[in-house]
Amino acid sequence: MSKQRHVVVVGAGAFGGWTALHLLRGGARVTLVDAWGPGNSRASSGGETRVIRGTYGPRAIYTRLTARALELWKEHERRWRRKLYHAIGVLWLVESDDAYEKAALPLLRDAGLTVKLNCPLMKANVGQYRQIQALAERLGVLCGFDPMITAKNDGDTSPVQLRITRKDLRQVLEDPALNPHLGKQETCEAPSARGDLDEVPCGASHNACYISAYGDVMPCVAMPIACGNVRDEPFAAIWHRSPEMLRVRSIRIRDLHTCSSCAASQFCTRCPGQALVETGDLYGPSPANCEHALVAAQVAGSAVIPASMLRLSPDR
Ligand SMILES: Cc1cc2nc3c(=O)[nH]c(=O)nc-3n(C[C@H](O)[C@H](O)[C@H](O)COP(=O)(O)OP(=O)(O)OC[C@H]3O[C@@H](n4cnc5c(N)ncnc54)[C@H](O)[C@@H]3O)c2cc1C
Ligand code: SF4
Repeated sequence: MSKQRHVVVVGAGAFGGWTALHLLRGGARVTLVDAWGPGNSRASSGGETRVIRGTYGPRAIYTRLTARALELWKEHERRWRRKLYHAIGVLWLVESDDAYEKAALPLLRDAGLTVKLNCPLMKANVGQYRQIQALAERLGVLCGFDPMITAKNDGDTSPVQLRITRKDLRQVLEDPALNPHLGKQETCEAPSARGDLDEVPCGASHNACYISAYGDVMPCVAMPIACGNVRDEPFAAIWHRSPEMLRVRSIRIRDLHTCSSCAASQFCTRCPGQALVETGDLYGPSPANCEHALVAAQVAGSAVIPASMLRLSPDR
């Protein structure tokens, strides 16, 4: 009879933990010891966030390890029926020397990791979006553009000056290469009243919230309303009892003084946080979204005009 091996693994960090688990699965009797307990804050693998990236220039071994690790995260989520890995993507900024990234691209593709060239569309680069698309095609990566330039969370609206003009936005939305739904939308008459008056404007404080690195809790990363701090009180108390959190949670479309009667709402993706930061009014329209909705309606062949613009210039 073969004697079962007894292995002692010292250190229950990422490496020790996996080593112990694989030894156990291999049939060994395992004792995992740690001076400070599993998942302790002194371990370098302990902590609230970690970056898992596959871009390591030409070093394919690391890219392959990352792809394998991601498979294992998913496999163990299924096995333990527990969400462990929350992918949020990585924004990789490159200056003039991009040799490292160029070397990584084919390796990322081979490993099945998705790469997307994401580009905010601004006055400075709107004239070159086709070249950017061609570059993405040459590199064999996905490409996306976003014309929505928001104000800063601290209320600084200077980035708004970078937004493209209405004419440029229309040209972009009319380009079938950027708007694959073009021509497929049905132009329908705007309903006389919105049918979603009892719905919530967005998921802030319902299925999401934001906790800053300093512990401040807000209803959304884009909605800078202080609801409490997890260093002062438990998160559950803030989530369930903070007056500001509850106020945001209580808002329904019917409470929005202009948007609730807007005929262009079907073309609009209003962000309450953006409305708040840009105008100081959580219950009002977001000028950026109105502008986008107007152009989106025109491109779809609809004559509807956002309610905010009707109010500003009744004879338009
Ligand atoms: C601040 C910081 C941020 C990082 N960010 C990232 C990142 O974003 N992405 C990334 O990929 N890598 C990151 N790293 C690197 C990565 O965390 C480490 O490479 C990895 O965690 C090492 O894992 P480990 O299991 O070897 O060590 P650890 O996670 O440090 O585990 C060692 C364990 O051994 C225990 N121990 C130590 N000595 C003894 C002893 N004598 N007796 C008993 N137990 C003992 C400790 O308590 C600890 O639990 C970061 C590292 C640091 C420090
Ligand atoms: S287009 Fe403007 S007024 Fe209409 S719903 Fe959107 S943000 Fe509100």
